[in-house]
Amino acid sequence: MTTTVVWLRDDLRLADNPALRHAADDGDVVVLYVLDEASAGVRSLGGAARWWLHHSLAALGAAVEAAGARLVLRRGAAIEVVPAVIQDARADAVVWNRRYGGPEREIDAAVKTWAGEHDVEAHSFAANLLHEPWTITTGAGEPFQVYSPFLRACQRAEEPRDPLPAVRRLAGPDVASDDLDEWGLHPSAPDWSAGLAEAWEPGETGATRRLTQFVDGILDGYDASRERPGVEGTSRLSPHLRFGEVSPFQVRAAVAGASPREDRDAFLSEIHWREFNWHLLYANPDLATVNHRAKFDGMRWRRSPGDLRAWQRGRTGYPLVDAGMRQLWQTGWMHNRVRMITASFLIKNLLIDWRAGEQWFWDTLVDADAANNPANWQWTAGSGADAFPYVRVFNPVTQGRKFDADGSYITRFVPELAGRDGSALHEPWDHDPPADYPEPMVDLRRTRRRALAAYDDIGASG
Ligand code: FAD
Repeated sequence: MTTTVVWLRDDLRLADNPALRHAADDGDVVVLYVLDEASAGVRSLGGAARWWLHHSLAALGAAVEAAGARLVLRRGAAIEVVPAVIQDARADAVVWNRRYGGPEREIDAAVKTWAGEHDVEAHSFAANLLHEPWTITTGAGEPFQVYSPFLRACQRAEEPRDPLPAVRRLAGPDVASDDLDEWGLHPSAPDWSAGLAEAWEPGETGATRRLTQFVDGILDGYDASRERPGVEGTSRLSPHLRFGEVSPFQVRAAVAGASPREDRDAFLSEIHWREFNWHLLYANPDLATVNHRAKFDGMRWRRSPGDLRAWQRGRTGYPLVDAGMRQLWQTGWMHNRVRMITASFLIKNLLIDWRAGEQWFWDTLVDADAANNPANWQWTAGSGADAFPYVRVFNPVTQGRKFDADGSYITRFVPELAGRDGSALHEPWDHDPPADYPEPMVDLRRTRRRALAAYDDIGASG
């Protein structure tokens, strides 16, 4: 009988989990999660993601127990911890689903080398992307820099597999585990997580529920409603995908055949933006710190801790920006269109380095994702691959009028403006502004011109 350590990472699920499936079919299993804050280069999770991880691991632990085994939790550098667990369990094999960040791949390679030297089998599986990054390349064998041909190449590539059934029974040796509560992932003193708990159900059951709700209702009309932050018009699957509580294979299969077709295609296109960004990260491991387009290294960003703080706290005086930043703070999530607008405001109107915004989102988003977050920040800045044209600067007032015309989103998160509409809502400074709401912190036209001049200085158009 084989005993296999299944090392779970960003794949906290029992269904459609090829590594777990392989091990469970083969014999005894030890299901392991390692909290690795010790290995060089691995980015520590932000506060909101730590909260999510706590609850996701609690849910996974309960599911593993219901299947007959126990989730083993260990903390430390994976290159030390994983071999120690293999030895404690007297295991013959170790398996995992692949990950694509640079430092993470180095760790996995080191564990594989250790296994080879100790007569332990090691196997890895594809589980978290529809297409492995090395399978989607340009004719010249290079990674794509532009999304549309990337999407077409994915559509031409081998059809992604069907999802695998959930593992229902697990058995294996008893191995010592840390106590999840002692990891301190859940905030205390103060516990600021009430808004997150109200908005989300971390774990595989929550992910499945969310997917079903989406396919049964929200998907119909997605193409139009996804642009309106005041309605529940998107799937809100992002944190579940981030932690692998649901896989893109399951998501793809769930929407297959759904109609109307334009809604399904629009949704699958977003799923492929996720793929595109992960392929970018695979080719550019330092995406969160280094401008993809080197000429942006010469950009003269402003340093203004006070302006950054006003943006972070949702006190810019621009209602849609403030609503977005407060939604993020309260719920750990922000609507995609508002992410673009708030990011544009920081980068272009405040002329603050995109990396400061990326870091704030990293700390506060429950879906903070090592590829999607930096890639989207670089896209908004214009420094990224297939970036947003730098001459386009979102005007938060026009955007608010267009996408939150009735103010249902703004007034939910900026209660100072409750009961207002039209100009009194979108431009409150001209209409008896409430005493407790800030004046606009910058002039939109003037700061737009300043941004364009700064972009011209580095020759951004070339
Ligand atoms: P849906 O519209 O239902 O889309 C389904 C899935 O497709 C999402 O769950 C997500 O996995 C993927 N997706 C959707 N839009 C994008 C996109 N623009 N780029 C890549 N994948 C996408 N997404 C994250 O998952 N993590 C992040 O850290 C993150 N940071 C962002 C930062 C900025 C500045 C911007 C502009 C966007 C960011 N996004 C990020 C992308 C996008 O905003 C979220 O994925 C989306 O809002 C999640 O909501 P949803 O699940 O309801 O999306």
